[in-house]
Amino acid sequence: IKTMTTRQQPLIIGGDMRADTPGHCAKFGTYSFLELNINKIISTQLLQSNEIGNSNAMEKQGFIRCLEDLQQYDLRPHTVITDRHLQIAKYIREEQNDIVHHYDVWHLAKGLERKLLPLSNKHPELRPWLKSIIGHLYWAPASTPSDLDEDSKQNIVLAKWMSLTNHVVNRHSHDNEYYPSCIHEESPLDTKWLHEDDIGYKKLKEITLNTRFLKDVKKLSTDHQTSSIESFHSLILQFSPKMKTFSYKGMLCRQLLAALHYNENSDQEFILDGDDDPKLYATFPKKKHKEGTYSIRTKKLIPRIFIELLQEVLHTIFVLNYVFCD
Ligand SMILES: [Zn+2]
Repeated sequence: IKTMTTRQQPLIIGGDMRADTPGHCAKFGTYSFLELNINKIISTQLLQSNEIGNSNAMEKQGFIRCLEDLQQYDLRPHTVITDRHLQIAKYIREEQNDIVHHYDVWHLAKGLERKLLPLSNKHPELRPWLKSIIGHLYWAPASTPSDLDEDSKQNIVLAKWMSLTNHVVNRHSHDNEYYPSCIHEESPLDTKWLHEDDIGYKKLKEITLNTRFLKDVKKLSTDHQTSSIESFHSLILQFSPKMKTFSYKGMLCRQLLAALHYNENSDQEFILDGDDDPKLYATFPKKKHKEGTYSIRTKKLIPRIFIELLQEVLHTIFVLNYVFCD
């Protein structure tokens, strides 16, 4: 918070909720704000379903509480990036309309993939295109300059996305001033172009040019994405294992500890070897082990906060002779 108040740069916030899966006794939800320029959790709220209701209502309430939390430090987001949660979109549009609202491309791509997979099972000619279509959804905003004004950005992203239905039938000029023609080089000769009369192609058009979907595409974020919040959410699980049940306070403490851990690690330094290169080690994940594969990871320093916590605990026990429990 201190960094944010002294930085005086527009706050770019990623917001998302993690709903607890069964295993925890009470149904909790965690809504968090991640400042995407500095990659720090700046607000995290714990919500209970019996206090608020279904997970849809919890998500909106979580968003409002994070916003109120920032307000007490006179901080206000310039841009917020979320998934396509309807209630939050409506709330920002109607009650916080000075905040720019964008959608995270990963969430939109996941939803699109869920629709295209069954379609490609029915119409196998679409299969070779699936990966490229999803890739195109990522490319449209990522290749658009983020310093343009909001309207131009939206028009260019939309035009790029809509060019897809021309491209797959081997048409590369588009009746659109914002993206008049494809910018790729010539396609390989063996490209399996679709045909305009194919039923699969017509269905593909229905999905990719659906009015609501196009509205969402326009709102895609061109530079920041919220995938780091997923890392924070999995970190909370490490502090509050699903097998155990926790009280509200117990859960809240674990969530805050996870936030401290995340912030401490988000710009964490690597342990260097003699040549000043990051030290590497191999891991053998069980799932991949059968195939004899392994992953290479970099060795990181233990976060300072945990060294300080451990020192405090040891000092309390051995110097102050404090007995924590019997
Ligand atoms: Zn093309």
